[in-house]
This record gives sequence, C-alpha cells and structure tokens, in this order.
Amino acid sequence: MSKEIPYKIYLEEQEMPKAWYNLRADMINKPAPLLNPGTLKPMTAEELSAVFCDELVKQELDNDTRFIEIPEEIRNFYKMYRPSPLVRAYCLEKKLGTPAKIYYKFEGNNTSGSHKLNSAIAQAYYAKKQGLKGVTTETGAGQWGTALSMACSYFDLDCKVFMVKVSYEQKPFRREVMRTYGASVTPSPSMETNVGKKINAEHPGTTGSLGCAISEAVEVAVGTPGYRYVLGSVLNQVLLHQSVIGLEAKAALDKYGEKADIIIGCAGGGSNLGGLIAPFMGEKIQKGTDYRIIAVEPASCPSLTRGKYAYDFCDTGMVCPLAKMYTLGSDFIPAPNHAGGLRYHGMSSVLSQLYDDGLMEATTAKQTEVFQAAETFARVEGILPAPESSHAIKVAIDEALKCKETGEEKTIVFGLTGTGYFDLVAYEKFHDGKMDDYIPTDEELAKYAAKLPKVEL
Ligand SMILES: *Cc1c(COP(=O)(O)O)cnc(C)c1O
Repeated sequence: MSKEIPYKIYLEEQEMPKAWYNLRADMINKPAPLLNPGTLKPMTAEELSAVFCDELVKQELDNDTRFIEIPEEIRNFYKMYRPSPLVRAYCLEKKLGTPAKIYYKFEGNNTSGSHKLNSAIAQAYYAKKQGLKGVTTETGAGQWGTALSMACSYFDLDCKVFMVKVSYEQKPFRREVMRTYGASVTPSPSMETNVGKKINAEHPGTTGSLGCAISEAVEVAVGTPGYRYVLGSVLNQVLLHQSVIGLEAKAALDKYGEKADIIIGCAGGGSNLGGLIAPFMGEKIQKGTDYRIIAVEPASCPSLTRGKYAYDFCDTGMVCPLAKMYTLGSDFIPAPNHAGGLRYHGMSSVLSQLYDDGLMEATTAKQTEVFQAAETFARVEGILPAPESSHAIKVAIDEALKCKETGEEKTIVFGLTGTGYFDLVAYEKFHDGKMDDYIPTDEELAKYAAKLPKVEL
C-alpha cells in the first residue's frame, strides 16, 4: 500500500472525470428551490429560461441525476489546464513541524488564475450550443470575468462584464486581461441600465457591490435578444461543474490509498468548496464516512457563521429569484478595505442546507491572519496564493498545528483556489502594516437582517 507519495499527484488524462457529480441526488434534505420574487412560487424551467440557457436551467433544477456527462468539447478544453495537481505540502509540513499530512488541490494553473474556468467553459459551451449571441455577467475581484472571457473567446461568444466599480478602478490589469480575450467591461453601477441609474441616484459616489453588478447584468441579458446571464458561483449548476475539483482530488488520494480526515475550503458563494467536497460529502451521507468538512469565510463577511438561514434576494436590485441561504441581507456591503473576493452576502443553497443539517462546519478568519498564513505558505511552497484561498490555508495551518500538539497524524486536504498576482495591493497593505481587521458588529448585522424579505411558505 504505502507507495511513496510524490510532491504532486497528477492523474493521467484518461483518468479525468467524464461526468460531473451532482451531490443533490444524494442529499437527504434537498436545497430549497429558487422562488419567483413576484409569486413566491418555485421558479419554473420556463421562467428561468428567460435568464439562463436551457441546458443550464435543466442542471439547476435537477436534484436527481447523480452523474451528468461532461460533453466532449468541455472535456477537451479541460485538458488544456487539467487535471490540476494534488500537491503534498511536504515543505509546509516540515516548516510547521506537524505529524499531519497536508494536501492541497491547486486550481490556479490557468490564465484566469482560479477554479472559475471550470464552470465558465461549461456555461459558455451550453450558450453556444443553444445558438446564443452572447452572455452577460458581473465580476467582483475579476477572476470570474477573466475566466468567462476566456471561455467566450474559445466558443466565439460576446461577453459583457459588469465589474464592481472599486475593482474596475483598483484592478486595471484584470480588466485588460478580459479585454484581451474580447470581453467588454463596464464599471458598475453604470448609467447603462435602469437599476444602475437608480443605485447611482440613491447612493451617489458608491463604489458598487457584487449584488448590484448582478442586477445590471441580468437586466441587460433579459432585455437583449440572443443573450443570457451567467453566474460564477452560488447556483447549483456552478457547484455541479466544480465537482471536477473534488472528483480529481478523491481519485488522486485513492491512487495512493490515502483518506482525508479534514477537508477545508474558503467559501464566498460556495462553488469551490461545494465542488471540492462533493464526492466526500456524498460518501459521508451514504456511508457515514467521518470526513470533517470546514468552510472558511472572512470575519468581515460571515454569512454562514453569523447570517440568517432565510429566503433572500441574490442581488441588490431585487430582479433575481429568491434563494434560501445563509445570508447577511442583499444590501449588506462588506468593509471596503477587505482585500479578498469573498464578499458575497449569501451562500449557495446546497452548502447552506448541508451546514444547517450539521454535515459541515464553518469558521471565520481575520484578514491580517489570512495574509500571515499566505506569506508562510508562499515562502515554503512557492505559490503566491490568492487572498481568498489563503483563508483555507490559515485554517489548514491551524489544524496541522493542533495535530502537532496532540501528535495525531491526520490527513488534511484544502482547496488552493487560485493565485494572488492581481492582489498585490492587498499584500502591500499587509506588509506596510496598513491592513485592518474590520468585523461587523451584531447591531450592524441585525440592521440588514431586519430587511430580509418576509417569505412565509
Ligand atoms: C471566486 C473565488 C473564490 C470564492 O468563490 P466560491 O464560489 O466560494 O468558490 C475563492 N477563491 C478564488 C481564487 C476565487 O477566484
């Protein structure tokens, strides 16, 4: 059994997953359905088809099909940058002096710099197959917009990105990568949409939010013939596509007879974590395997740990369906100095349900301790991690240090979702001691929670 484990476990091309795993098929309590904000009835396929492509609507609503085939064109695209390595963090283990084995699944090895390309390519493929002309979307930190622009250029689709204004101004390089791949990039809130004009009028000088950019992108998609909207996280379909991360990770561990004890991921909208844990959680539900699964969110945007489990709007403009999720309220805007991209007010319905069922844990990390962990990691493992990913690093290090105290040889697997080359302003603030750890007060959170829509079912 005990083959020597290499630094990087790569699967062979022919060992890559041929189907996505739909965890919902194995969930006892299914995630709550999206609701029509007008009627408060579950959104029908027909209603959703005005916003999303048909095949993606099917995937969104499918709580039953366990495996959904990955079309060959998508698999071929995946082959350009996948399989991604499962890295044994020997150097980090040594540095920490821990008996724990630490692995990370590295998704930053593509130009978009994150896991988001896994779903972008799928969504672009189905849009093209339906004969659409283009897609619209929002982007916060810019990773999703970059991934989508790469996917759209591959399939020759128009790509219109509403980029949160503060990022548009602070991250001009991301913007230029998107334009290189042919996307048009508009700072949000803009004056191109009704919702953008309204938000600009109500909050002059606002630097925008993801929720607001979503409203703008949806408005343009619904109002432009041949266009649909695509979203980079939160939705069931995105978690489905991201299951390639977990399927590959599990196959790589299985190859060496390794079993994970603790699985850790950062959680913004929940897509990388949902994808990473999918096959492990499926096994936990079906066979009772004792995987400890931990979501890590920023202390400044703590939707799972301090939010309410309730129906809420997915966007600020309230044009999108209502989703039942752990949420801070759709007009919650996290502290502007927060460096990472984990700024969404809600959490995927799938993860919210699993968390509510006690099948996974959640914890928060403060910004400065996250950057401290990022630096520790970079100095021994070489990779410059994205601030988002570094939330997972922080908790993986904490767990490894606990093992050092107890002498337990646990196997820890975490998701290293991306690289941080475009986040160097945040690193600069950290190095200059100018980064703070803003944590919202209970009063502040209560103010937003009080505005949650009243949905009686
Ligand atoms: C977008 C992003 C995240 C958070 O999104 P999830 O949907 O929660 O996965 C995490 N890491 C990186 C690098 C990202 O780009």
